[in-house]
Amino acid sequence: MPDTLLPMPEDWHRALAVVAHPDDLEWGCAGAIAGWTAAGKEVAYVLVTRGEAGIDGMPPEQAGPLREAEERAAAAQVGVHSVEFLGHRDGVIEYGIALRREIALAIRRHRPELVITQNHHDYWRPGTWNTPDHKAVGRATVDAAADAGNRWIFPPADGEPEPWQGVRWVAIHASQLASHAVDVSGRREQAIASLAAHAAYLRALSDTPPAQRAAELVDDMAATDPAVFGGRPHCAFELITV
Ligand SMILES: [Zn+2]
Repeated sequence: MPDTLLPMPEDWHRALAVVAHPDDLEWGCAGAIAGWTAAGKEVAYVLVTRGEAGIDGMPPEQAGPLREAEERAAAAQVGVHSVEFLGHRDGVIEYGIALRREIALAIRRHRPELVITQNHHDYWRPGTWNTPDHKAVGRATVDAAADAGNRWIFPPADGEPEPWQGVRWVAIHASQLASHAVDVSGRREQAIASLAAHAAYLRALSDTPPAQRAAELVDDMAATDPAVFGGRPHCAFELITV
């Protein structure tokens, strides 16, 4: 990660975030999204799974609807009211042409200038292996940002949206190759409320009450290393120009 991150571009109106699981965006990204929606930008979420394999003590048929509801509540805390679920099975998402096509269609429906996704690299951080779902969804989303504009790669069927060539950037959250950042000063409470909305999930991970645990995690993630981004609390992204 470079010593100084550049500010994220702000000259856009619509963003679409595509991630694998409920909680992936709230894990460090919610403050940035809160700032964007407060500035009048539109942000929509597409979740590839319902995260139904995420709670050890709860069977998937119970966890799926619960985690979907928690994600909708988490999104509402940061001004996001469009939340879609593609319904893939949690833990076994397959990277490939079918996933690229599904995400390209979502991009064509929402027509974003900025696409947000998650770390698709092999390592989450040095020494920590990333999950197969994160790798599949992050990589397919970066690919789909370009696929969305090409009518011959995925020709639109009757009733499907037309190709969209308006994606200008893909911002990859939680990447070790971060190049840009958003100042999240003043967004701490919203970021905590958004993560704390995953109450059942947080309770499954820790004995600390969800609101307290969410506050600890948000403060930990809004890194304030003085060498980076002027010491301001921030959310960092690897930015790819499309
Ligand atoms: Zn995840």
